[in-house]
Amino acid sequence: MSIKLEVKEATKFYTTKSGNLHALDQFSVGIDSGDFVSIVGPSGCGKSTLLWSIAGLHDLTSGEITLDGKKIDGPNDQIGMVFQEANMLPWRSLIKNIEFPFEIKKKAPNTARINELLKRVGLSGFETKYPRELSGGMQQRASIVRALSFDPSVLLMDEPFGALDAFTRDEMNLLVQEIWLETKKTIIFITHNIAEAVFLSSKVFVMSARPGRLANVYEIDYPRPRSIEMLSDPKIIQTINQIRSNIIEQTN
Ligand code: ADP
Repeated sequence: MSIKLEVKEATKFYTTKSGNLHALDQFSVGIDSGDFVSIVGPSGCGKSTLLWSIAGLHDLTSGEITLDGKKIDGPNDQIGMVFQEANMLPWRSLIKNIEFPFEIKKKAPNTARINELLKRVGLSGFETKYPRELSGGMQQRASIVRALSFDPSVLLMDEPFGALDAFTRDEMNLLVQEIWLETKKTIIFITHNIAEAVFLSSKVFVMSARPGRLANVYEIDYPRPRSIEMLSDPKIIQTINQIRSNIIEQTN
């Protein structure tokens, strides 16, 4: 696999009323094309700051992030993002929400691709429904379609299933695994749920407490496709416990 996304000494200070807040410190990593990486770490360690910087939504104070050797200096169609909230406009139907980013960019929506994605995530037939008529899981499926509608090579997911119940989360994890296996997009996934990170990823990055640095990388070489039952495997439970202890160590 070739290295596609390169984070080089990413450092971020936020300016706050009480002074500078050091969120990220010289964070460096290379992420292979088509890899599935999860980022875990203590609350407030800079995970979202890192992801938003990769998305081009935050400027770094120093350091740089490149995709295919090209510096990321703003949002671009090569990088899609899914947030914890589905962020759907309540007065627009599902399809109008998915088409919204195309409207903003004054581009014609990629209807064939959108329809294919809607079918893929089980939302065909729901196009004219409004967000209030859709469950939380369905709204997140729609936001995955929206993020993939531009056919990005990288998909960033910031705690996407944190607000969902456990069964829906399992369903969504299986769906994300299938989409990843089918499309081989590079996925970077933030979660507080270590089992979810281990289930989905080929690598789990543990970040240090703020200012965030890369503390450890765990390789998860369990065969795919994976089933939720994998999480009962003693070897996997041991890995989950190791990662949990490592996160606790970061906070002490
Ligand atoms: P995480 O995602 O790991 O919980 P964040 O990246 O959201 O961490 O935040 C890292 C630190 O930066 C936290 O202390 C947070 O309060 C602070 N922070 C995040 N965004 C801003 C902002 N826009 N302005 C000031 N401080 C911020």
